[in-house]
Amino acid sequence: MAPPSFPVPLPPRTPRTPGRIRVLASSACLMLAATGLTVGPAAANASASPAPAASSASAAVDCDAVPCVALTYDDGPGPYTDELLDTLAAEEVRATFFVVGENAQSSPEPVARTASEGHEVGNHSWAHDDLTEKTGPEVARDLERASLAITGATGSWPDLMRPPYGAVSETSLAHTYYPAILWDVDSRDWTGLDSDEIVDSTMSQVSPGSIVLMHDSIAPTVEAAPELIRRLRDEGYHFVTVSEILDNTALEDGTPYRRRP
Ligand SMILES: [Zn+2]
Repeated sequence: MAPPSFPVPLPPRTPRTPGRIRVLASSACLMLAATGLTVGPAAANASASPAPAASSASAAVDCDAVPCVALTYDDGPGPYTDELLDTLAAEEVRATFFVVGENAQSSPEPVARTASEGHEVGNHSWAHDDLTEKTGPEVARDLERASLAITGATGSWPDLMRPPYGAVSETSLAHTYYPAILWDVDSRDWTGLDSDEIVDSTMSQVSPGSIVLMHDSIAPTVEAAPELIRRLRDEGYHFVTVSEILDNTALEDGTPYRRRP
């Protein structure tokens, strides 16, 4: 699977113009039309399915009134994704998945399931390359290719992206036509921790409004999910998607976000 993520220092924020956002939004639509994107049966089912009950229930959560946390899982879909989705469904927890475009293209079914079960699906680049090593136009093309694959699986264009390795530069952000979602809690699951250590590492850092970095490509992370959810629930946390935990923020393309302000 894709290599693990690690955080890097952030450069200064890059201001964005509404004009650029508008132009890119329409170019994305044109791209979809021009490529004659085929939406497979999985995506058709996903888009035709009514929103699950958990979705409408969680939509009522007020993260100013109760502690919220956004669990995020990167680098899938992979061999453990369905097991994690089973756990989240049993616990009635929704999360956010930042999927790799080429994985979504080769395995669209778990991505379609992820979306149809009320989770948020974001863009984690086409092939998990370090976007800071690309030119600006290459960054834009890479993310667009990934979003086309995700849309082929889910029927919906993703609203958010997460840069592989958390790596961003002024150039990469200037060509990232999505809010760039980082994290304030690194579970450190990518360092070889076992499932108990992943739970302890996360619990020692989490606070209301946190965005937690994890990977559904890592077996102990998926094993840790039931206990992590139990411990967070014991502390009163409500589980929401990244878009929901940032709902008090006017999200701008090409701007990094780490947690609810
Ligand atoms: Zn990653």
